[in-house]
Amino acid sequence: TKQIVLASRPKGSPTLDNFRLETVDVSELKNGEVLLEGMYYSVDPYMRGRMNDAKSYTPPFDIDQPIQGGVIAKVLGSKSDNLKTGDIVLGTLPWKEKCIASEKDLKKIDTSIAPASYYLGVLGMTGLTAYFGLMNICKPKSGETVIVSGAAGAVGVVVGQIAKIQGCRVIGIAGSDEKTQLLKTEFGFDETINYKTTKDMKKAIADLCPNGVDIYFDNVGGEISDAVIANINFNARIALCGQIALYNSTETPVGPRLQPMLLTRSVLMQGFIVSNFQDEFPQGIKHLAEWVKDGKIKFTETIENGFDQLPKALLGLFKGENTGKMIVKG
Ligand code: NDP
Repeated sequence: TKQIVLASRPKGSPTLDNFRLETVDVSELKNGEVLLEGMYYSVDPYMRGRMNDAKSYTPPFDIDQPIQGGVIAKVLGSKSDNLKTGDIVLGTLPWKEKCIASEKDLKKIDTSIAPASYYLGVLGMTGLTAYFGLMNICKPKSGETVIVSGAAGAVGVVVGQIAKIQGCRVIGIAGSDEKTQLLKTEFGFDETINYKTTKDMKKAIADLCPNGVDIYFDNVGGEISDAVIANINFNARIALCGQIALYNSTETPVGPRLQPMLLTRSVLMQGFIVSNFQDEFPQGIKHLAEWVKDGKIKFTETIENGFDQLPKALLGLFKGENTGKMIVKG
């Protein structure tokens, strides 16, 4: 079977040379195990961090070992009492076309509720990130002004729609006119800003938010965040979800010193990792599934075809090649 391993650690932006495609044998099934075939593979920005040899909340990927990530897979063979051939499961699995996994590391998913791939997106890790970051940290109130950066991505597009459900005015920042257009027409955002074509971001935000920004859901960091924070309101909440603009930096960029704004305006800024809310996941999934079923949350995916496309799809996240969740169909 094919597998993709980490060939070398990137310095700055990763390239296709940091990965290697190999062919290996699949081992024999033991009791409690299943043979899986990958259907949908998730590529996620946090994987960039795991390519470094640095201590973080998840360990680094090992050189010459398969990359691992969220995968939706089909059971091809089973020595498990709980999973049978044909079941569809979710797990953190190696980038292999076929692999053996223990039943205890897999969750069976219900594809009658939503398409299987949604369990990597709106009904999976990125949907839960949007839900808990917004609801538990930002605590939106009706009438408040919310800004979402990385708004047309997997997390951002869900954050904006949950904020709308909560009665907020929602402004999305994204990197193309196609994306900003879609945020308005398809996902109900009130206003949008294309950060790539806007010269003065601070002014653009000020123009759209005359009463200031009450909630900032930050997926990107860097200069976009500087411009949002320069417009932050009293008692605002900032959820530090992601800093994708900085993941490939080799030096720490220095921005304007805006901490006095946070201090004098009594702003709460909190970083989080979605697993902080693990105990509440069932509750989050329940809400998200209801909203999806009722059409209150729409979702979109960019699906690349073919297992071999995994490295290219991962690199594509850093070039804005996705709208909604970036997924590779095996
Ligand atoms: P996305 O689907 O949002 O994909 C990444 C997007 O980031 C791209 O489409 C691109 O959109 C944008 N982007 C890339 N480079 C830059 C840049 N230099 N400046 C501004 N925008 C950029 O990914 P996810 O929804 O999966 O993740 C969004 C963020 O949330 C990431 O930072 C991720 O690390 C974080 N995250 C955090 C979690 C947590 O537990 N805290 C869990 C999951 C995700 P555009 O065209 O707009 O530039």
